[in-house]
Amino acid sequence: MNKKGKRFAWLLRAVCLTACLAAGLSGCGARAGSHETVQPVKSGSAQEQDISTDSAAKAGESRNAGDMTVHFLDVGQGLSILVQSEGQTLLYDGGGRSASSFTVAYLERQGVAEIDYMISSHYDEDHVAGLIGCLNAFDVRQVIGADYEQDTKIYQSFMNAVEAEGLTVLHPAVGDSFDFGSGSFTVLAPASIGEEDNGNSVVIRLDNGENSFLFTGDANLDSEAAMCASGLELSCDVLSVSHHGSATATGWDFLQAAVPEYAVVSCGAGNSYGHPHKDVCDRLEAMGIPLFRTDLQGTVTVTSDGTELIWDQEPCNDYSPGEEGDTGTQPQSSKKEAGESGQEPPKTGSEPQPSGAEQENQVWISVSGSKYHSRPDCGTMNPEHAVEMTETEAAAQGYEPCGRCFPE
Ligand SMILES: [Zn+2]
Ligand SMILES: [Zn+2]
Repeated sequence: MNKKGKRFAWLLRAVCLTACLAAGLSGCGARAGSHETVQPVKSGSAQEQDISTDSAAKAGESRNAGDMTVHFLDVGQGLSILVQSEGQTLLYDGGGRSASSFTVAYLERQGVAEIDYMISSHYDEDHVAGLIGCLNAFDVRQVIGADYEQDTKIYQSFMNAVEAEGLTVLHPAVGDSFDFGSGSFTVLAPASIGEEDNGNSVVIRLDNGENSFLFTGDANLDSEAAMCASGLELSCDVLSVSHHGSATATGWDFLQAAVPEYAVVSCGAGNSYGHPHKDVCDRLEAMGIPLFRTDLQGTVTVTSDGTELIWDQEPCNDYSPGEEGDTGTQPQSSKKEAGESGQEPPKTGSEPQPSGAEQENQVWISVSGSKYHSRPDCGTMNPEHAVEMTETEAAAQGYEPCGRCFPE
């Protein structure tokens, strides 16, 4: 947060070099994480399998925070976040099939041998496939995932790989905290399991001293609403933007509760979904949140010492949507009626003016369905949460026409 007076520092190499020299290490290729092994954590506490470690987490807050390095891996269209602190490793998602060997190689380069916490946000291929390779390549201590099943081969392969490690997938409750490295993480979602698998994403808040990160998987607007209503602390320094910047997430209410100091979007260059979507880019820009993008910048890393964040590069602050023709789905009025607490802040840049030339059919999708609708209140839809987009966009995202309101 700005109140904490964070600043950019482009000195990672210098800092790392100094630290490495001080520690008497020869090379610095493995970055900040490697020199943490100089003072290893007591191995006993590191391997706690206890699912409710609230007290341990609180204890973590009171001691001086050490370094924690967060890597947003460039896995193309997908998500994978590696966190290293005091010799411990947390892996949140592993990217898709095409990135699987990259993810394993990247972890090896960082000196990872064991993964203390493997968190599968949800079981979509672009998140879970790379975890399977990591289960095979590394000694995994604990796997956390959402409590639902997916009727896909990739889900089955993942479960088989977890079982082969002699593990089961743990489903911690919202509010559960875990000691990790010099800090802790807390589960923020899912509060409930629904039909849409993105909405079941395990969302965590990672704390290191005064610094905090939100990892949101592909959480949707429903999940965001539940988090906002939960009373749990959502404010953070770094937001890993949900669902690759899709307009099905990262609504005003959530953003205004999180007020991140930085945002990171993980998506593939030229991805077929048009991620990140203009709505989300506009919101981030309107709030003046510096933006990192893996599609434009590759892997992005940041190190927290408990007070300050040191990034390995500057934010790109490129708020242009993934698809040039994306005019946004925010209607000029009506969608955000009374009841939605967050009123829209004034836009700094261009309003999403649907140009007169747009003859595209506008459709609405609900946050939890698989169909698109000709009106925002079809059936049991909540019009306040319906997302408007063109029929082409909806079809491109895999939605199908609703049999009730679409005559064709
Ligand atoms: Zn997903
Ligand atoms: Zn995804």
